[in-house]
Amino acid sequence: RAYNFNAGPAALPLEVLERAQAEFVDFRGTGMSIMEMSHRGKVYEEVHNEAQSRLLSLLGNPSGYKVLFLQGGASTQFAMVPMNFLTAGKTGSYVLTGSWASKAEKEARLIGETHIAASSENNKFMSIPDLRSIEIPDNAAYLHVTSNETIEGSQYQQYPDTGSVPLIADMSSDILCREFDVNQFDFIYAGAQKNLGPSGVTVVIAREELLAESPKHIPTMLRFSTHAANNSLYNTPPSFSVYMVNEVLKWIEEQGSLAGVEKINREKAGLIYDTIDSSEGFYRGPVEAGSRSIMNITFRLPSEELEKQFIKESEQEGFVGLKGHRSVGGLRASIYNAVPYENVKALADFMNHFQKNHG
Ligand code: PLP
Repeated sequence: RAYNFNAGPAALPLEVLERAQAEFVDFRGTGMSIMEMSHRGKVYEEVHNEAQSRLLSLLGNPSGYKVLFLQGGASTQFAMVPMNFLTAGKTGSYVLTGSWASKAEKEARLIGETHIAASSENNKFMSIPDLRSIEIPDNAAYLHVTSNETIEGSQYQQYPDTGSVPLIADMSSDILCREFDVNQFDFIYAGAQKNLGPSGVTVVIAREELLAESPKHIPTMLRFSTHAANNSLYNTPPSFSVYMVNEVLKWIEEQGSLAGVEKINREKAGLIYDTIDSSEGFYRGPVEAGSRSIMNITFRLPSEELEKQFIKESEQEGFVGLKGHRSVGGLRASIYNAVPYENVKALADFMNHFQKNHG
């Protein structure tokens, strides 16, 4: 298997792929693949419901929350969130931390009025703004945060207290990477293809009362209430992706649930950040120390030529996906839950060798 450091779609646990392979053609004695079954049948519905309850269980079974399985990626949530919640006279308040937060805010502007509660753009998005600087207007419909900026490589270490204003988070690139208190949030969404499974399903975890009613003027498929009232089975769900999410969630349980994956994720991230910090300036992590992501580690080399050389040599050694996003350049190692410790260790060793040869 490749040393896969792709930002998304990303590595899946080998054990999950192997289990899916074993069940692929004949799902649990039915003579059909899960992909070939009716989504109205008992077998699929069990998987669907199990994935929802497993997710809530991993989050400590918070009361009053519901899980939805939607389609259209996190990008569709950039629009659905304001369509459903940004009612007349209200403003959608956004914390701008990087490329994805900015996209979410820009999309919301197509729907209604928005407001920037805080921004680290002056710092080229190389930090998460001080939570104390966040200003939420009185007419805020919600405060939107992006828990982890996949492209820049920053991550919240703590979340703002928004009082009675709903806190909405795009957790696409760090959901279930660590323990957190769901009760701080009113609405969480995440495309599955980094920490939860394959692409094709977008997971929502939200307070039931926020999902109960949606404006009637928006299309049926874009109302959260449609999906909540129909247990995410209003139309044909992405059944194979949901099945895979359930398998990934089982795997997370086997790793010791969120506490278990957090421990190993911190060790993995520590390996790479230590390599950067002990390189005497050969490698440079541009994100401020207190805002560093444990999922997407961005770093630079002394020149773009050396960065190109790093990509070339790393690919020859079997490393995949280390090129930084085209919008920011440099290098990026995405070390989501499924990336094994040994692969990260192999990358740290490669970085040390590369420095010896080129430093
Ligand atoms: N939000 C974040 C933080 C992301 O990392 C991504 C994708 O990389 C998106 C949103 C967009 O997700 P999707 O491709 O599922 O629309």
